[in-house]
Amino acid sequence: MFDELDQGTIDRERLDRAAPKALIDPFARAITYLRVSVTDRCDFRCVYCMSENMSFLPKADILSLEELDRLCTAFIAKGVRKLRLTGGEPLVRRGIMTLVGSLSRHLKTGALEELTVTTNGSQLKKYASELAAHGVRRINVSLDTLDADKFRAITRWGELATVLGGIEAARAAGLAVKINAVALKGVNDHEFARLAEWAHGAGMDLTFIEVMPLGEIGENRLDQYLPLSMVRAQLAERFTLEDIDYRTGGPARYVRVKETGGRLGFITPLTHNFCETCNRVRITCTGTLFMCLGQEDAADLRAPLRASGRDDLLHAAIDEAITRKPKGHDFVIDRRHKRPALGRHMSVTGG
Ligand code: SAM
Repeated sequence: MFDELDQGTIDRERLDRAAPKALIDPFARAITYLRVSVTDRCDFRCVYCMSENMSFLPKADILSLEELDRLCTAFIAKGVRKLRLTGGEPLVRRGIMTLVGSLSRHLKTGALEELTVTTNGSQLKKYASELAAHGVRRINVSLDTLDADKFRAITRWGELATVLGGIEAARAAGLAVKINAVALKGVNDHEFARLAEWAHGAGMDLTFIEVMPLGEIGENRLDQYLPLSMVRAQLAERFTLEDIDYRTGGPARYVRVKETGGRLGFITPLTHNFCETCNRVRITCTGTLFMCLGQEDAADLRAPLRASGRDDLLHAAIDEAITRKPKGHDFVIDRRHKRPALGRHMSVTGG
Protein backbone atom coordinates (compact mmCIF):
# COMPACT_ATOMS: atom_id res chain seq x y z
CA MET A 1 0.00 0.00 0.00
CA PHE A 2 1.39 3.43 0.85
CA ASP A 3 4.75 2.32 2.13
CA GLU A 4 5.09 -0.01 -0.82
CA LEU A 5 5.01 2.63 -3.55
CA ASP A 6 6.61 0.98 -6.56
CA GLN A 7 9.00 2.62 -8.97
CA GLY A 8 6.14 3.05 -11.49
CA THR A 9 4.19 5.19 -9.06
CA ILE A 10 7.22 7.27 -8.20
CA ASP A 11 8.01 7.79 -11.91
CA ARG A 12 4.44 8.78 -12.58
CA GLU A 13 4.53 11.35 -9.78
CA ARG A 14 7.81 12.69 -11.10
CA LEU A 15 6.33 12.98 -14.60
CA ASP A 16 3.24 14.72 -13.28
CA ARG A 17 5.41 17.19 -11.41
CA ALA A 18 7.69 17.68 -14.38
CA ALA A 19 4.89 19.12 -16.47
CA PRO A 20 2.59 20.88 -14.05
CA LYS A 21 -0.02 23.19 -15.44
CA ALA A 22 -0.72 25.81 -12.81
CA LEU A 23 -4.36 26.29 -11.90
CA ILE A 24 -5.38 29.82 -12.84
CA ASP A 25 -9.10 30.58 -12.89
CA PRO A 26 -10.94 32.90 -15.32
CA PHE A 27 -10.46 35.82 -12.91
CA ALA A 28 -6.67 35.33 -12.82
CA ARG A 29 -6.71 33.85 -9.30
CA ALA A 30 -4.13 31.11 -8.73
CA ILE A 31 -5.58 28.08 -6.97
CA THR A 32 -3.04 27.10 -4.34
CA TYR A 33 -5.23 25.88 -1.50
CA LEU A 34 -7.19 22.62 -1.44
CA ARG A 35 -9.61 21.59 1.29
CA VAL A 36 -10.45 17.91 1.35
CA SER A 37 -13.42 16.45 3.18
CA VAL A 38 -12.20 12.92 3.96
CA THR A 39 -15.53 11.70 5.36
CA ASP A 40 -19.08 12.99 5.63
CA ARG A 41 -19.44 11.30 9.03
CA CYS A 42 -19.02 13.03 12.35
CA ASP A 43 -19.20 12.05 16.01
CA PHE A 44 -21.02 15.34 16.80
CA ARG A 45 -24.33 16.65 15.46
CA CYS A 46 -23.90 20.43 15.79
CA VAL A 47 -27.32 22.05 15.51
CA TYR A 48 -26.30 24.56 12.81
CA CYS A 49 -24.45 21.94 10.75
CA MET A 50 -26.46 18.70 10.68
CA SER A 51 -29.89 17.46 11.55
CA GLU A 52 -29.95 14.84 14.31
CA ASN A 53 -30.81 11.95 12.01
CA MET A 54 -28.50 12.49 9.07
CA SER A 55 -28.12 9.72 6.54
CA PHE A 56 -24.58 9.15 5.38
CA LEU A 57 -23.07 7.97 2.12
CA PRO A 58 -22.61 4.30 1.29
CA LYS A 59 -19.01 3.13 1.52
CA ALA A 60 -18.67 2.31 -2.20
CA ASP A 61 -19.24 5.98 -3.06
CA ILE A 62 -16.44 7.15 -0.82
CA LEU A 63 -12.89 7.45 -2.10
CA SER A 64 -10.39 5.06 -0.57
CA LEU A 65 -7.38 6.50 1.25
CA GLU A 66 -5.24 5.65 -1.78
CA GLU A 67 -7.66 7.49 -4.07
CA LEU A 68 -7.70 10.53 -1.77
CA ASP A 69 -3.92 10.52 -1.80
CA ARG A 70 -3.82 10.32 -5.60
CA LEU A 71 -6.28 13.17 -5.91
CA CYS A 72 -4.36 15.41 -3.50
CA THR A 73 -1.11 14.54 -5.26
CA ALA A 74 -2.61 15.58 -8.62
CA PHE A 75 -3.53 18.98 -7.17
CA ILE A 76 -0.09 19.38 -5.61
CA ALA A 77 1.46 18.67 -9.02
CA LYS A 78 -0.69 21.52 -10.28
CA GLY A 79 0.58 24.05 -7.80
CA VAL A 80 -1.49 23.51 -4.65
CA ARG A 81 0.76 24.53 -1.73
CA LYS A 82 -1.62 24.22 1.18
CA LEU A 83 -3.81 21.25 1.99
CA ARG A 84 -6.42 21.08 4.73
CA LEU A 85 -8.13 17.85 5.79
CA THR A 86 -11.64 18.38 7.04
CA GLY A 87 -15.01 16.64 7.06
CA GLY A 88 -17.38 15.57 8.61
CA GLU A 89 -14.86 14.88 11.33
CA PRO A 90 -11.57 13.99 9.60
CA LEU A 91 -10.15 12.20 12.64
CA VAL A 92 -12.99 9.63 12.74
CA ARG A 93 -12.10 8.36 9.25
CA ARG A 94 -10.58 4.90 9.69
CA GLY A 95 -6.88 4.89 8.77
CA ILE A 96 -6.69 8.68 8.63
CA MET A 97 -3.10 8.68 9.95
CA THR A 98 -2.06 6.50 7.00
CA LEU A 99 -3.27 9.26 4.70
CA VAL A 100 -1.61 12.01 6.75
CA GLY A 101 1.64 10.03 6.82
CA SER A 102 1.52 9.43 3.12
CA LEU A 103 0.73 13.07 2.24
CA SER A 104 3.59 14.21 4.46
CA ARG A 105 6.03 13.09 1.73
CA HIS A 106 5.03 16.25 -0.14
CA LEU A 107 6.08 18.34 2.85
CA LYS A 108 9.45 16.61 2.84
CA THR A 109 10.03 17.36 -0.86
CA GLY A 110 8.89 20.96 -0.37
CA ALA A 111 6.11 20.56 -2.98
CA LEU A 112 3.62 21.24 -0.21
CA GLU A 113 4.08 24.15 2.15
CA GLU A 114 1.49 23.22 4.73
CA LEU A 115 -0.69 20.27 5.73
CA THR A 116 -3.39 21.19 8.23
CA VAL A 117 -6.50 19.73 9.81
CA THR A 118 -9.83 21.17 10.95
CA THR A 119 -11.29 19.09 13.75
CA ASN A 120 -13.88 19.13 16.51
CA GLY A 121 -11.10 18.01 18.86
CA SER A 122 -12.75 14.81 20.10
CA GLN A 123 -9.94 12.54 18.86
CA LEU A 124 -6.96 14.81 19.47
CA LYS A 125 -5.79 13.04 22.58
CA LYS A 126 -5.28 9.97 20.46
CA TYR A 127 -3.78 11.62 17.38
CA ALA A 128 -2.04 14.90 18.33
CA SER A 129 1.49 13.50 18.59
CA GLU A 130 1.16 11.54 15.37
CA LEU A 131 -0.08 14.61 13.52
CA ALA A 132 2.92 16.57 14.77
CA ALA A 133 5.28 13.72 13.87
CA HIS A 134 3.94 13.79 10.31
CA GLY A 135 4.76 17.47 9.92
CA VAL A 136 1.40 19.05 10.73
CA ARG A 137 2.22 22.36 12.44
CA ARG A 138 -1.16 24.08 12.87
CA ILE A 139 -4.67 22.82 13.42
CA ASN A 140 -8.08 24.47 13.75
CA VAL A 141 -10.35 23.27 16.51
CA SER A 142 -14.04 24.18 16.42
CA LEU A 143 -15.38 25.19 19.82
CA ASP A 144 -18.37 27.48 20.27
CA THR A 145 -18.74 27.60 24.06
CA LEU A 146 -16.89 26.92 27.31
CA ASP A 147 -20.08 25.95 29.11
CA ALA A 148 -20.37 22.15 29.35
CA ASP A 149 -24.20 22.07 29.20
CA LYS A 150 -24.32 24.47 26.32
CA PHE A 151 -21.61 22.49 24.55
CA ARG A 152 -23.77 19.38 24.76
CA ALA A 153 -26.80 21.32 23.56
CA ILE A 154 -24.93 22.71 20.53
CA THR A 155 -23.08 19.52 19.55
CA ARG A 156 -25.89 17.17 20.69
CA TRP A 157 -23.33 14.36 21.21
CA GLY A 158 -20.12 16.08 22.36
CA GLU A 159 -18.37 16.38 25.73
CA LEU A 160 -16.57 19.64 26.47
CA ALA A 161 -14.00 17.99 28.77
CA THR A 162 -12.91 15.62 25.99
CA VAL A 163 -12.36 18.49 23.58
CA LEU A 164 -10.47 20.59 26.14
CA GLY A 165 -8.29 17.56 26.86
CA GLY A 166 -7.70 17.19 23.13
CA ILE A 167 -6.66 20.81 22.81
CA GLU A 168 -4.22 20.34 25.70
CA ALA A 169 -2.76 17.29 24.01
CA ALA A 170 -2.35 19.20 20.76
CA ARG A 171 -0.55 22.06 22.46
CA ALA A 172 1.65 19.64 24.38
CA ALA A 173 2.57 18.01 21.05
CA GLY A 174 3.73 21.41 19.80
CA LEU A 175 0.82 22.09 17.43
CA ALA A 176 -0.35 25.69 17.05
CA VAL A 177 -4.09 25.66 17.72
CA LYS A 178 -6.60 28.15 16.35
CA ILE A 179 -10.07 28.08 17.82
CA ASN A 180 -13.04 28.59 15.48
CA ALA A 181 -16.33 29.62 17.04
CA VAL A 182 -19.60 30.06 15.18
CA ALA A 183 -21.47 33.09 16.53
CA LEU A 184 -24.94 31.96 17.53
CA LYS A 185 -27.65 34.36 18.58
CA GLY A 186 -29.06 33.59 22.00
CA VAL A 187 -26.61 30.69 22.46
CA ASN A 188 -23.03 31.90 22.89
CA ASP A 189 -23.48 35.64 22.44
CA HIS A 190 -22.74 36.38 26.10
CA GLU A 191 -19.44 34.45 25.92
CA PHE A 192 -17.42 36.14 23.20
CA ALA A 193 -15.15 38.05 25.58
CA ARG A 194 -14.66 34.98 27.77
CA LEU A 195 -13.73 32.87 24.76
CA ALA A 196 -11.17 35.48 23.69
CA GLU A 197 -9.64 35.67 27.17
CA TRP A 198 -9.45 31.90 27.42
CA ALA A 199 -7.97 31.33 23.95
CA HIS A 200 -5.51 34.21 24.19
CA GLY A 201 -4.54 33.21 27.71
CA ALA A 202 -3.34 29.90 26.25
CA GLY A 203 -1.62 31.54 23.26
CA MET A 204 -4.28 30.48 20.74
CA ASP A 205 -5.86 32.62 18.01
CA LEU A 206 -9.65 32.78 17.99
CA THR A 207 -11.82 33.26 14.91
CA PHE A 208 -15.54 33.94 14.84
CA ILE A 209 -17.63 32.63 11.93
CA GLU A 210 -21.07 33.71 10.72
CA VAL A 211 -23.66 30.95 10.36
CA MET A 212 -23.97 30.06 6.68
CA PRO A 213 -27.22 28.84 5.13
CA LEU A 214 -26.04 25.36 4.10
CA GLY A 215 -28.29 22.31 4.22
CA GLU A 216 -31.61 21.56 5.85
CA ILE A 217 -31.05 21.33 9.63
CA GLY A 218 -34.56 21.21 10.98
CA GLU A 219 -34.17 24.58 12.74
CA ASN A 220 -34.75 28.13 11.65
CA ARG A 221 -31.50 29.78 10.65
CA LEU A 222 -32.83 33.22 11.33
CA ASP A 223 -32.99 32.21 14.96
CA GLN A 224 -29.24 31.51 14.92
CA TYR A 225 -27.85 34.18 12.63
CA LEU A 226 -25.79 36.94 14.20
CA PRO A 227 -23.83 39.35 11.98
CA LEU A 228 -20.21 39.58 13.11
CA SER A 229 -20.45 43.38 13.01
CA MET A 230 -22.50 42.94 16.19
CA VAL A 231 -19.96 40.54 17.68
CA ARG A 232 -17.21 43.03 16.99
CA ALA A 233 -19.23 45.91 18.43
CA GLN A 234 -19.88 43.90 21.59
CA LEU A 235 -16.18 43.03 21.96
CA ALA A 236 -15.17 46.63 21.32
CA GLU A 237 -17.11 47.68 24.42
CA ARG A 238 -14.81 45.51 26.50
CA PHE A 239 -11.52 45.48 24.57
CA THR A 240 -9.41 47.72 22.39
CA LEU A 241 -9.39 46.10 18.93
CA GLU A 242 -6.53 47.09 16.63
CA ASP A 243 -6.73 46.23 12.90
CA ILE A 244 -3.70 44.23 11.77
CA ASP A 245 -2.47 42.91 8.43
CA TYR A 246 -2.01 39.29 9.59
CA ARG A 247 -3.25 36.69 7.06
CA THR A 248 -3.25 32.89 7.12
CA GLY A 249 -4.26 32.47 3.48
CA GLY A 250 -7.90 32.14 4.52
CA PRO A 251 -10.85 34.53 4.45
CA ALA A 252 -10.48 35.72 8.07
CA ARG A 253 -9.65 39.35 8.77
CA TYR A 254 -7.78 39.89 12.04
CA VAL A 255 -7.52 42.39 14.85
CA ARG A 256 -5.25 42.36 17.86
CA VAL A 257 -6.88 42.63 21.26
CA LYS A 258 -4.72 45.12 23.11
CA GLU A 259 -5.63 43.84 26.57
CA THR A 260 -4.87 40.16 25.87
CA GLY A 261 -2.21 40.62 23.18
CA GLY A 262 -3.95 37.87 21.16
CA ARG A 263 -5.34 37.75 17.64
CA LEU A 264 -9.03 37.69 16.85
CA GLY A 265 -10.30 36.76 13.37
CA PHE A 266 -13.65 37.38 11.71
CA ILE A 267 -15.02 35.26 8.86
CA THR A 268 -17.99 37.09 7.40
CA PRO A 269 -19.35 35.28 4.33
CA LEU A 270 -22.73 36.94 4.66
CA THR A 271 -22.04 40.52 5.63
CA HIS A 272 -18.78 40.89 3.72
CA ASN A 273 -17.20 38.34 1.44
CA PHE A 274 -13.63 38.23 0.21
CA CYS A 275 -14.13 36.27 -2.99
CA GLU A 276 -11.85 38.51 -5.02
CA THR A 277 -8.81 36.94 -3.35
CA CYS A 278 -10.18 33.37 -3.24
CA ASN A 279 -7.37 30.88 -3.84
CA ARG A 280 -9.18 27.68 -2.89
CA VAL A 281 -11.29 24.77 -4.06
CA ARG A 282 -12.88 21.92 -2.14
CA ILE A 283 -13.20 18.18 -2.69
CA THR A 284 -15.79 15.99 -1.01
CA CYS A 285 -15.07 12.45 0.14
CA THR A 286 -16.75 11.16 -3.04
CA GLY A 287 -14.32 13.10 -5.22
CA THR A 288 -16.68 15.90 -6.18
CA LEU A 289 -14.86 19.16 -6.73
CA PHE A 290 -16.64 22.33 -5.64
CA MET A 291 -15.06 25.42 -7.11
CA CYS A 292 -16.94 27.62 -4.60
CA LEU A 293 -18.36 26.82 -1.14
CA GLY A 294 -21.40 28.97 -1.89
CA GLN A 295 -22.40 27.71 -5.37
CA GLU A 296 -23.91 24.45 -6.63
CA ASP A 297 -21.66 23.93 -9.67
CA ALA A 298 -19.28 20.98 -9.23
CA ALA A 299 -17.13 18.54 -11.18
CA ASP A 300 -16.93 14.79 -10.69
CA LEU A 301 -13.29 13.73 -10.29
CA ARG A 302 -14.05 10.20 -9.13
CA ALA A 303 -14.94 8.95 -12.62
CA PRO A 304 -11.68 10.11 -14.26
CA LEU A 305 -9.77 8.91 -11.19
CA ARG A 306 -11.26 5.42 -11.39
CA ALA A 307 -11.26 5.22 -15.19
CA SER A 308 -7.49 4.99 -15.46
CA GLY A 309 -4.39 4.36 -13.39
CA ARG A 310 -2.72 7.22 -15.23
CA ASP A 311 -3.51 10.78 -14.23
CA ASP A 312 -4.10 12.45 -17.60
CA LEU A 313 -7.90 12.17 -17.47
CA LEU A 314 -7.87 13.46 -13.92
CA HIS A 315 -5.64 16.42 -14.79
CA ALA A 316 -7.88 17.28 -17.75
CA ALA A 317 -11.00 17.15 -15.56
CA ILE A 318 -9.37 19.43 -12.97
CA ASP A 319 -8.26 21.92 -15.65
CA GLU A 320 -11.75 22.01 -17.12
CA ALA A 321 -13.39 22.52 -13.73
CA ILE A 322 -11.14 25.46 -12.86
CA THR A 323 -12.33 27.28 -16.00
CA ARG A 324 -15.75 27.25 -14.30
CA LYS A 325 -14.70 28.73 -10.96
CA PRO A 326 -17.23 31.50 -10.34
CA LYS A 327 -16.35 35.03 -9.35
CA GLY A 328 -17.97 34.62 -5.94
CA HIS A 329 -20.84 33.37 -3.87
CA ASP A 330 -24.02 35.10 -2.86
CA PHE A 331 -25.27 33.53 0.33
CA VAL A 332 -28.63 34.89 1.36
CA ILE A 333 -30.68 33.62 4.24
CA ASP A 334 -34.05 33.21 2.52
CA ARG A 335 -36.37 34.93 4.97
CA ARG A 336 -39.59 34.42 3.03
CA HIS A 337 -39.36 30.68 2.38
CA LYS A 338 -37.07 29.85 5.30
CA ARG A 339 -34.97 27.52 3.22
CA PRO A 340 -31.20 27.17 2.97
CA ALA A 341 -29.32 28.92 0.15
CA LEU A 342 -27.73 25.56 -0.71
CA GLY A 343 -29.08 22.06 -0.27
CA ARG A 344 -25.86 20.43 0.89
CA HIS A 345 -24.62 20.51 4.45
CA MET A 346 -21.30 21.99 5.55
CA SER A 347 -20.24 18.45 6.52
CA VAL A 348 -20.30 17.50 2.82
CA THR A 349 -17.94 20.18 1.53
CA GLY A 350 -16.07 20.69 4.77
CA GLY A 351 -15.93 24.00 6.63
N1 SAM B 1 -15.59 18.31 12.21
C1 SAM B 1 -14.63 19.33 11.95
C2 SAM B 1 -14.85 20.51 12.87
O1 SAM B 1 -15.70 20.45 13.73
O2 SAM B 1 -14.13 21.51 12.73
C3 SAM B 1 -14.53 19.79 10.51
C4 SAM B 1 -15.79 19.99 9.73
S1 SAM B 1 -16.87 21.26 10.32
C5 SAM B 1 -18.13 21.18 9.09
C6 SAM B 1 -15.94 22.71 9.96
C7 SAM B 1 -16.44 24.02 10.54
O3 SAM B 1 -17.64 24.39 9.91
C8 SAM B 1 -16.71 24.00 12.01
O4 SAM B 1 -16.02 25.08 12.60
C9 SAM B 1 -18.19 24.23 12.12
O5 SAM B 1 -18.51 24.94 13.27
C10 SAM B 1 -18.45 25.03 10.87
N2 SAM B 1 -19.82 25.00 10.38
C11 SAM B 1 -20.61 23.95 10.15
N3 SAM B 1 -21.81 24.32 9.66
C12 SAM B 1 -21.76 25.66 9.56
C13 SAM B 1 -22.68 26.65 9.11
N4 SAM B 1 -23.88 26.33 8.66
N5 SAM B 1 -22.28 27.95 9.15
C14 SAM B 1 -21.05 28.29 9.59
N6 SAM B 1 -20.14 27.41 10.02
C15 SAM B 1 -20.49 26.11 10.02
